[in-house]
Amino acid sequence: MANSKFEYVKQFEQSDHLLPNTWIVVRIDGRGFTKFSAKYGFEKPNDKRALELMNAAARAVMAELPDITIAYGVSDEYSFVFHKTCSLFERRSSKLVSTIVSTFTAYYVHLWPIHFPDTPLSPPLPSFDGRAVCYPTVQNLRDYMSWRQVDCHINNLYNTTFWALIQLGGLDATEAEKTLKGTYAADKNEILFSKFGINYNNELEMYKKGSVVFRDYELVEPGTHNTTVEVDNLAEPVQQSKTQSENDKKRRAKARIVVQHLDIIKDDFWDRRPWLLS
Ligand code: ATP
Ligand code: ATP
Ligand code: MG
Ligand code: MG
Ligand code: MG
Ligand code: MG
Repeated sequence: MANSKFEYVKQFEQSDHLLPNTWIVVRIDGRGFTKFSAKYGFEKPNDKRALELMNAAARAVMAELPDITIAYGVSDEYSFVFHKTCSLFERRSSKLVSTIVSTFTAYYVHLWPIHFPDTPLSPPLPSFDGRAVCYPTVQNLRDYMSWRQVDCHINNLYNTTFWALIQLGGLDATEAEKTLKGTYAADKNEILFSKFGINYNNELEMYKKGSVVFRDYELVEPGTHNTTVEVDNLAEPVQQSKTQSENDKKRRAKARIVVQHLDIIKDDFWDRRPWLLS
């Protein structure tokens, strides 16, 4: 096949190597999930099964692509972060995005029956879009993550109140929308509490904060450095012949991937897990 007269067409391909030494974020988002969630009777505002399926698919993506440092998911979207030194697929955007999108989609479909045992999938099947964005500084990356988590909070508070007005208050969608127009967070908390006895703080952390997926292999206690807490499955002895960095790499590769619902806006999360951004 090499050197055929047809080969010149290869030159029409455009380079899409992402800027070196920048944090790459690939965000995927479910296509038409407003319709999709209605078709499969997702509970409103939050279907726990659907969120756990998203988390399971994200976990599988991270297991298949060790270059991903951390991921954050809310609703029908997930953001995957590649370390700034990552050289996977020569940092070609289309390769990174398409591999993540197809791996995620494949697992979403594969794991569907575990999370929705009574509701088989039927065409049109779930699909996701994706894009890659480069962030030059840690601050930019953290602001990106904060942006998504703030979005999660604002939408969830709105949706929780909106659906309470409908499901518990007997309003229709137009009336609920009108009630919430121009309200602040404090007003929504007040509506939830005074009208329906709901304390928003008691809502599930997964709904309020979204889901963070990362390799949890050591934890630095606040105010200390180099203090590590061994995780059970990594308790094997450190081999003296290996350099520290090789051992670090090995530990990272073997670390268990966890899904947690934590505040990623404040410093604490990042301070306690310095390996994520170092
Ligand atoms: P697009 O293709 O442009 O992304 P979309 O319909 O998917 O269109 P989004 O803005 O992505 O629009 O919104 C996602 C939709 O899926 C929202 O309507 C949201 O309520 C619904 N959804 C996603 N996950 C869940 C869930 N776990 N429980 C209930 N509803 C969900
Ligand atoms: P990459 O991830 O870089 O694409 P790859 O292993 O998929 O790596 P390709 O150049 O895409 O490399 O080659 C596809 C491989 O899959 C070849 O080894 C080819 O022989 C094999 N393959 C694909 N389809 C078939 C098929 N229908 N029957 C037998 N082998 C197949
Ligand atoms: Mg979209
Ligand atoms: Mg969507
Ligand atoms: Mg979305
Ligand atoms: Mg191939």
